[in-house]
Amino acid sequence: MNIQKNILLKDYLSFKIGGPAQYFAKVSDLKDLQDTLTWAKTEKQPLTILGGGTNMLVSDQGIKGLVLKLDFNQLEFENNKVKVGCGVPLAFLLNRSLEENLVGLEFAAGVPGTVGGAIRGNAGTYGVAMDSIVKKISYLDKNNELKEMEGSQANFTYRHSIFKEKKDWIIIEAEIELTKGDVGKARQIVKERLQYRQDTQPNEPSAGCIFKNVKFEDTDIEALKARKLEIEKFEKFKKIPAAYLIEKAGLKGHSIGGAKISEKHANYIINANKASFEEVIMLISFIKQQIRDKYGIQLTEEVQIVI
Ligand SMILES: Cc1cc2nc3c(=O)[nH]c(=O)nc-3n(C[C@H](O)[C@H](O)[C@H](O)COP(=O)(O)OP(=O)(O)OC[C@H]3O[C@@H](n4cnc5c(N)ncnc54)[C@H](O)[C@@H]3O)c2cc1C
Repeated sequence: MNIQKNILLKDYLSFKIGGPAQYFAKVSDLKDLQDTLTWAKTEKQPLTILGGGTNMLVSDQGIKGLVLKLDFNQLEFENNKVKVGCGVPLAFLLNRSLEENLVGLEFAAGVPGTVGGAIRGNAGTYGVAMDSIVKKISYLDKNNELKEMEGSQANFTYRHSIFKEKKDWIIIEAEIELTKGDVGKARQIVKERLQYRQDTQPNEPSAGCIFKNVKFEDTDIEALKARKLEIEKFEKFKKIPAAYLIEKAGLKGHSIGGAKISEKHANYIINANKASFEEVIMLISFIKQQIRDKYGIQLTEEVQIVI
């Protein structure tokens, strides 16, 4: 058990915003994790889990209690199944799977972060997400006991899983099922997706998309059409991209302090110039208020805000 004090979190976060963790530990095996969790419980320290840090906005005041960086990096292939630790980067899993002639993870091309973070948020693109490949998940429950569930029990929906409901459960490992398939074609898809991202998404520090896309069922579609929004374009996925609404509202490029709505992709707030946590929060509120006023839609955050 190696618990450090006062570790600056922005170095671990893609947004490059965030103060110090009061206590910080990197753990890579179960025994070490359980010992560290027992310590936190005895010392009554609240717990925050950190995966790849690509979906988190952390306060400049930092995080009280213990921040645990999970580095479980095991990766075992057996036929078309993969047992993968929660700390394995999704990009690495994709590349290794292709080397094993397995396809099915192309949707993850360009999605940064770890397998654990991706399962918790059911990360995905183009209407395909982790729920399509995750068969089993092992996790620690709030009593520090190792449990296993089927993927079908994980309450997966759009950018959601049971791990957002049970905040004290920790994903340890997953069993993923892929398919033996046309790897040449899969590599081509991955290449095109990465190029598309390069062309359409910003390079500056960010936490990816700030808001979830808006489900058709949660909106008055006819009212939006009456406001000259081209909703038919989004019929296929039955979701209106938050980026589309923000762009239509004329907010691209708007900034507060060092935080700016990307000119390249309106659902990205970028850390353009040493943005503070507060500046990003103010910009998020501003966007929400504008979209509410213009379109009667309440945007909800995809980014995990940690204070
Ligand atoms: C440039 C960029 C592009 C992106 N594009 C996409 C995209 O196309 N699609 C998409 O879905 N997302 C996208 N994202 C968002 C992000 O990459 C995903 O949400 C990713 O899955 C987060 O994984 P992570 O390991 O970084 O999680 P973190 O940011 O470290 O954590 C996210 C949340 O999960 C919790 N968590 C992490 N690991 C565990 C665990 N093992 N057990 C329990 N809880 C855990 C954390 O406490 C936190 O609440 C993008 C982000 C960036 C910066």
